[in-house]
Amino acid sequence: MAKTKKNESIEKMEKLVSLLKRRGFIFQSSEIYGGLSAAYDYGPLGVELKNNIKKAWWKMFVADRPDMVGMDAAIIMHPKVWEASGHISNFSDPLVDCKKCKRRYRADHLLSADSLSPEYDKAKAPELKDVKCPECGGDLTDSRNFNLMFKTHMGPVEDEGSEVYLRPETAGGMFVNFKNVVDTMRMRVPFGMGQIGKAFRNEITTENFIFRMREFEQLEVEYFINPKDWKKHFEEWLNIMDNWCALIGLKKENYEKVEIKGDDRAFYSKRTVDFEYKYPFGQKELYGLAYRTDYDLTQHAKFSGQDMDYTDPVTREKYIPHVIEPSLGVDRSVLACLVEAYTEIEGGRSTTTDAIKDMEVVLKLPYALAPVKVAILPLSKKETLTPLARKIQKDLTSSFACMYDETSSIGKRYRRQDEIGTPFCITVDFDSLEDNAVTVRDRDTMEQERIEISKLEGYITEKLK
Ligand code: ATP
Repeated sequence: MAKTKKNESIEKMEKLVSLLKRRGFIFQSSEIYGGLSAAYDYGPLGVELKNNIKKAWWKMFVADRPDMVGMDAAIIMHPKVWEASGHISNFSDPLVDCKKCKRRYRADHLLSADSLSPEYDKAKAPELKDVKCPECGGDLTDSRNFNLMFKTHMGPVEDEGSEVYLRPETAGGMFVNFKNVVDTMRMRVPFGMGQIGKAFRNEITTENFIFRMREFEQLEVEYFINPKDWKKHFEEWLNIMDNWCALIGLKKENYEKVEIKGDDRAFYSKRTVDFEYKYPFGQKELYGLAYRTDYDLTQHAKFSGQDMDYTDPVTREKYIPHVIEPSLGVDRSVLACLVEAYTEIEGGRSTTTDAIKDMEVVLKLPYALAPVKVAILPLSKKETLTPLARKIQKDLTSSFACMYDETSSIGKRYRRQDEIGTPFCITVDFDSLEDNAVTVRDRDTMEQERIEISKLEGYITEKLK
């Protein structure tokens, strides 16, 4: 039977998830205890990829910009922060339970699902009362709001006064430090703060691997502006986010910028654009860009009693700065970038023997993000080659992330490196002992070049640019 596009996408996702486990990128959290749902651990190669994404973001959004500074605020903040921001009263999703099997769903997800079972009349807008439990067909309860914040207690006494929250987003830590940054860094509006860090949400439903987790990581900017310039800044950030998508290898046709209409926007936002990526499991949010007006600083001024006014040092104009917020998820970046990079080659690329004519997988990650940049592969395990190969590894390790592999055939080793996205493989052979040169193989073109060992570092640096 011919495969449908949907089945193919599901299959692709399954193959990717299995590759990521097999090759040490991402594991289910607490797997030996049966796993914890919606929590994942980044393994040795996954953490390198993730760190490379974070480093690239920090460089592009913070370090390379004179109008940006960094921040690393605490995860647990004063509970009033979340009262001021509206999270305690509003940060909730609509929850419904199945009366029969007790499964829980997000009502908005149920209404937008295109694979509901049993089906309802899709010609008219669906209403919750028409929808049954997709698993068992049972009746659903009315929808009620479920707050997504994780609560815990601080200090030895567990009473109401010791209740604190794990932050549901990193933004709060930047708003509460607005005054500190203006005063200590002499920043002049427009300027921004960037922060990378964990956020926690007790999501009602979790789904699709690392797409929706209860513990995840964010890359956020709070950019403080004079309100008269908001349209210009919003357009600039849209462009920057497009450049970022290109940097992590996303093709323009694989994501869409969706203008969020009035009622669907947060009440304080004047404009929100979601970047939606075409994941194998459907088109879903990757990032968001929002013009948050002066909501945040005004709320914190009100709840803290502190003055959040800003006076321009040149024009003496006094106002509460407005905020443009590009909010990105680290894990969704990792996922989109992996989906994009995952390439299957039917029949394989190595045509030398029939044995290796089956399907090959190449992870075409952008060079800057690849967890390993260079693999050093002595042609055979013979002792005569090992000292030279190890020396090359030692010399290159301070410049590039290297991996040494001398097990199994050279063909198999190339394929292992292709599967983890290593851009360059260096083969040390018996001629290398005579001519002081090695063969460098390119992951994408498979071209092989003979390079003098003394010129290797410069050659690879040039190629990686
Ligand atoms: P969604 O509609 O998918 O729940 P959201 O609109 O609530 O997402 P934001 O509050 O805008 O998300 O968070 C900013 C970014 O943080 C998102 O664009 C996404 O990249 C990331 N993010 C949010 N929730 C999660 C999660 N549960 N798991 C992984 N990443 C997340």
